[in-house]
Amino acid sequence: MTIEVTDSCKQWMDESVEFAKRIGLYDGDDHDKHYLKRALDQLDHFADNDRMGLAKCFIYKDPAPASFYCIVKRGTRARECMECHYKWTSRVVASRNSAGISGEATEFCPKCGHRTVVSAPIEYHEELMTIGCIYHGPHDGFGSGGAPTYAVSLTPEHGWLLHS
Ligand SMILES: [Zn+2]
Repeated sequence: MTIEVTDSCKQWMDESVEFAKRIGLYDGDDHDKHYLKRALDQLDHFADNDRMGLAKCFIYKDPAPASFYCIVKRGTRARECMECHYKWTSRVVASRNSAGISGEATEFCPKCGHRTVVSAPIEYHEELMTIGCIYHGPHDGFGSGGAPTYAVSLTPEHGWLLHS
């Protein structure tokens, strides 16, 4: 799982899921409907994108009703070479062939090439993109661009859409 609902957003998420279930738009098989769960799954896909290395999507509360915004952050680790004691920070990259237990690629010292490298716990500081996960419905003219969401959908929509 590459999605993390931040602490201050947990209750908001629970309430929004409840709301989505109440109006029949939490999850389902109808491809024309904009389910909340489908929008969250799409965010998961964004964060899992191979081009970016290992990334994680942090979800925050948006001021608009039942809406969120998400910041995709790239994972990095501080490293130190045990051979030459060179220190650097680098992206956490998934291994392409022989994945280790962690699934991370082996890191080599960029200075001396040694592989006896100590890595600090993963940190998420580098922001890659922000994506809105916005609920559209009767309250905003189904995405007409008015208050309170100010996001425009080309056709009237009911449900959750991503806006990057
Ligand atoms: Zn070294």
